[in-house]
Amino acid sequence: MRIPSLAALAALAALASLASLASPLPAQSNAERMANGAYTRSHDYDLVHQRIEVGDFNWDSLSFSGKLVTTLVARRPGFDSVILDAGHLLQITGVTDPAGVSLGSARSGDTLVIRLAKPAGFGDTVRFTLAYAGKVENGRGLTFLDPEGRPHRPRQIWSQGEDDNNHDWFPTYDFPNDRMTWEMVATVPASFTAVSNGRLVSDVRTARGRTMTWRQDKPASTYLVSLIVAPLVKIHDTWGTVPVDYYVYREDSARAWPLFHVTPDMIAVYSRLTGVRYPWAQYAQTTVADFFGGMENVSATTLVDWLPDPAAYLDRPWYQYILIPHELAHQWFGDLVTTENWANMWLNEGFAEFMPGQYWQVKQGRHLEDDYYLDEYRQFLQIDDDRRMPLAARASNNIYPKGALVLRMLERYLGNQRFWASVKRYLEQHAYDNATTDDLRQAVLDATGENLDWFWDQWMYQAGYPEFAVQAGYDAAARSLTLTVKQTQVDTSTADSTTGLRYSTPLVFRMPVTIRVGTASGDVVRNVMLDAREQTIRIDSIAAEPTMVIFDDGNRVLKKLSFEQPTSWLATQLQRDPDLWNRQWVIDQLAKRTTDDLAAQALAAAATGADYFLTRAQAVTALASFSQQAMPILEATIGDTSAAVRVATLDALGEVGGARAVEIGTDRFHHDPSYEVRAAAVAALAKADPAQRQAILTEAIASESYQDAIRNAAYGVIARTTDTTFLEVVNARVPMDENAVYVLAGMGRKGATRALDLLASHLNDERHYVRGWALNAFRNALPASLALPRLQAAQDSIQDPETRAAVAAAIEELKKK
Ligand SMILES: [Zn+2]
Repeated sequence: MRIPSLAALAALAALASLASLASPLPAQSNAERMANGAYTRSHDYDLVHQRIEVGDFNWDSLSFSGKLVTTLVARRPGFDSVILDAGHLLQITGVTDPAGVSLGSARSGDTLVIRLAKPAGFGDTVRFTLAYAGKVENGRGLTFLDPEGRPHRPRQIWSQGEDDNNHDWFPTYDFPNDRMTWEMVATVPASFTAVSNGRLVSDVRTARGRTMTWRQDKPASTYLVSLIVAPLVKIHDTWGTVPVDYYVYREDSARAWPLFHVTPDMIAVYSRLTGVRYPWAQYAQTTVADFFGGMENVSATTLVDWLPDPAAYLDRPWYQYILIPHELAHQWFGDLVTTENWANMWLNEGFAEFMPGQYWQVKQGRHLEDDYYLDEYRQFLQIDDDRRMPLAARASNNIYPKGALVLRMLERYLGNQRFWASVKRYLEQHAYDNATTDDLRQAVLDATGENLDWFWDQWMYQAGYPEFAVQAGYDAAARSLTLTVKQTQVDTSTADSTTGLRYSTPLVFRMPVTIRVGTASGDVVRNVMLDAREQTIRIDSIAAEPTMVIFDDGNRVLKKLSFEQPTSWLATQLQRDPDLWNRQWVIDQLAKRTTDDLAAQALAAAATGADYFLTRAQAVTALASFSQQAMPILEATIGDTSAAVRVATLDALGEVGGARAVEIGTDRFHHDPSYEVRAAAVAALAKADPAQRQAILTEAIASESYQDAIRNAAYGVIARTTDTTFLEVVNARVPMDENAVYVLAGMGRKGATRALDLLASHLNDERHYVRGWALNAFRNALPASLALPRLQAAQDSIQDPETRAAVAAAIEELKKK
């Protein structure tokens, strides 16, 4: 699964709280035992196969017809009843065994018990057919969508199983630690397509509609069962003999190939890196509306319908850079080998988040790889700062970026060959099966002979990361450099109030680091094992004062670093160090030395001359605080071939201000080919040019761009001020544009009561989705002190009963805050 990262949502984050994206689940144990086995569910059968037949979909009543044939094997003697998970809205109309004997059943909540005609013995196969009238609460298991007058949004249905919602639309065993094969027989309206897992085995048109039968003939966990029903066109591609199909709305046909055609190459690279050939009969990618991002349903990934237009590729769209390779990686990590329980979910998500960086390394080299993980590092710190949890823990909040970074660290530690041999061993030992965190440790041990128990303890089972405070001293007489390395991280997290469990942070992380010392006669390199709270490292035979000192050359350790150095060392490192994490760290140090000419020169050189755009962009950003000294450099960097550098330049120009900044900003706003650059120009001009502000914002709000980058930039400006000039303009956009409700909320938060009046009025909008947006804005983007009185005042005047009930529920929820 993948949702847009915080960075990708930056525009929206300015407008709304992201609280709704955060995991609300409680903390669990930091103990290895709890991570590996304690959360695995027990059951007394082995689910083997389900034939799932669905049809008669009704978008008004959210209903459908269902018939299910289940085959399982009893795993206890005297097996007289089958316990399945079944959504409480599914109405069971009949259960029969293969002899046609009607079987009894009983319900309690989401549990369905079927009583067999006679008890089965241990190892006996049991089969029964279950007919039901299906119905869902919209968004649980199945999501039914109607256009409601909105563009780019055909009528459709999509399923979402992970973690445990597939039982809301067909009775099954809804936990990852059992695997089955299945058939999906879906009868849909004649002009629609049904996409599901595995191989399409038949496609028949009858008076009832179109019946498409898919067969998943390799076992997978039930949360990976998928069904999409929509008017879609199929764009066919292949990897060898494997069909690689892209299902999109007809209007998106032209955008599908440029976006998705990277897929066969990604399949080839992943197959080669892992040593395990793509394991499924097909790979389908299907786009749907209102989806949170992507979901790796086995052999049939579901993706949000944000297909980039040609210009959007100038801004390296998240969709192609992260989302497609992330979900594809899950076909090995998550689908072929599946976490045994949700406490080990990082095995799914950490690997899926790790693999795109490896793909980009293979395709475009070291810098893009560093770039990828540097972004993960920023996310990791932010999440860790918010709440510190280990990787292997139930509801761990940091499994994506920390998982990716720890796996990268493991790769650096083991080296390329040993790492991939370990991964291959892990995938082969647990293929079509489940795994725990300790199984991965064992696979490394089996493949390399090295027991990384200590690594697992500090990086998987405990929380936190090392924070190094380094001091360097050169002794000319002794011709030696002495480094004092302290680990300053603290272990202060308190026990969870409900479980009593506490996540510890190691006071000492054990890790090898490389120290590189620049000298006039070449570099001196030392490998050192860090294994103490404080240690001293002496490097001899340094003939003269070093030209630079790199602590953790190659950035092999996930860390924070504090290391005071002369500017000249930093300047040399920035010029010479290929590692992007190290460069970013150096740039951060230089950025603080705003009265130091050497720092300004080093940044200027990097801004205009660095060999990778990210370094140039970061140097530009740092130069903003050097004020007027920056201007000549910004004049140059606005012409950079990289849109990201031009974005950084415009941000800096907004800070620096002045007539020339306005001139450049205006030009870029009107003429730059990149949406992100034009969006940055909006923000820069709003800062630098109060006179033109209104005209620019008006034009920006009317500008169409991929993912509304330009309009969102204007919204960001508007929501950050108390200026209500644009209140009515923004309000008029609400029916077309969810972000508009967050702008109203933002203005309301700043004291514009009229904005809150307008927001409340949308609770009575004739469109269901607008009412939902307005209510979500009250719940997620306003403090309870503002939202509660408004909702209470509006409550009685709300016409629609469903909305009135939702508002009442929101009021209760807000009262608890
Ligand atoms: Zn994922």
